[in-house]
Order: sequence, then C-alpha cells, then structure tokens
Amino acid sequence: MRIILLGPPGGGKGTQGDLVVERYGFPRISTGDLLRQAVQDRTALGIEADAAMKRGALVRDEIVLGLVRERIGRPDCRDGYVLDGYPRNLAQAKDVEALDPARPEIVIAIDVAAEEIVRRLADRRSCPDCGAVFNLIVRKPAREGVCDACRGTLARREDDRPEVIRERLRVYAEKTEPLLAYYGSIGNLRRVDGGKGVDATAAAIREILDAALGAGKADARA
Ligand code: AMP
Repeated sequence: MRIILLGPPGGGKGTQGDLVVERYGFPRISTGDLLRQAVQDRTALGIEADAAMKRGALVRDEIVLGLVRERIGRPDCRDGYVLDGYPRNLAQAKDVEALDPARPEIVIAIDVAAEEIVRRLADRRSCPDCGAVFNLIVRKPAREGVCDACRGTLARREDDRPEVIRERLRVYAEKTEPLLAYYGSIGNLRRVDGGKGVDATAAAIREILDAALGAGKADARA
C-alpha cells in the first residue's frame, strides 16, 4: 500500500505519519526531511533546494522525484510506505504513480483551517539534529528548548517565520490543493478533520487504514 498524507504545512502530516508508522510498520518518507538532510550535508542538490525552501517555494520536481525514487527503492518499502509532503502538485502525483504503478494507493487528506495552521506553525519547534517536532502549547518537550529524543537544541525552522508561512500556504492553495479534486476523481481520497486534536485525527485515520488494509489482505487471499 502507498499511503499519501495530504494537507497544508503544519496540518499534522508528520505527527500522524509517525503514528501510522507505529501502528502499521510502514516507513514514513518525508520529502521535507530528505531535503533538509541534503541541505545540511551541503550536497549539490541540497544547495539548490535551500534557496527555494527558504522562500517557501517548491523545490524542482526532478530533484524531489530523485529523492523519492531512491528512497522507495529500498527494501523496507517493499510492503508499503507513507508519503508525507509528496506529491505537492499534479506532476508529482503522476511521477509517483509511474514509479510504482502496481501498488494500491490511498490518499488521506487532513483538513485544517488556515488560522489554525498559522498558530501551530508559530508555536512549532524542531530539532535540527534528529528532526523531532514539538509544539510549545500541545506537545511541549520535557525540558524547555531541549529535544526529548536526542537532547539537541530546539529551534524554529527558518521557513516557519510568518512571512514564509504565508507563502507556503499560498503555494499549497495554488499547487497542492488541486490534488484533492484529482484524487477525488480517481476515487481513492479520504478526508479527515485535522482540527480536533491529535488523538481524534489519529482515530479517524486508523479507521480508514484498518478498513483499507483489511480489504487489501482479503484481495491478496482471493
Ligand atoms: P515540509 O517539511 O514538508 O513542510 O517541506 C519543507 C519545504 O521543503 C517545502 O516548503 C518545500 O520548499 C520543500 N519540499 C518538501 N516536499 C516537497 C515536494 N514534494 N516538492 C517540492 N518541494 C518540496
């Protein structure tokens, strides 16, 4: 199964993706994390991606596709994977279908209102060392400013500044939101209300995936 988590920046894709990983064991592939790693490693690709990311723009499709191709080709993706932050436009949706055409796909769109997103991103803090994500209000680290997982020093992501957040939301509305209609027409789109807190959202996603994966197993037996 290919599970695509679709939704605005700050909508909870990463948090929910981690919970899906915990329950079903599929790896989570975050193109944002892969790009940030490339930026940190100062690879040629990372240097090119950095400028677009700082502006809140999308990185070129070919760069992101290369990262996704390499990642889903690894053995841990054999039974399935969760995509977080990919695809972000129609071309990318078609790219991943072409890369791995035989795999059943389910798209879970997490709906969150724009005002709520701005609030969440302003309160978000991330660990630059291990990528763990916290929130100053709803997911506080045990020690202020310190990562629970690796003891790194938490920081606000450079693209979580208000002016960049606005641009990321604009890009989401222009490029990514049309995917809702695309997947809606294919018939594999499920929508969940992401404004009701982590647990309620996780429960809604679990219900969808239990049904979809149960059906997948029944198909495989038939
Ligand atoms: P994220 O961590 O998913 O919010 O991504 C952070 C930034 O990485 C985005 O604002 C984009 O600049 C870039 N990025 C992540 N995923 C993609 C993608 N699928 N296509 C293009 N750019 C991406």
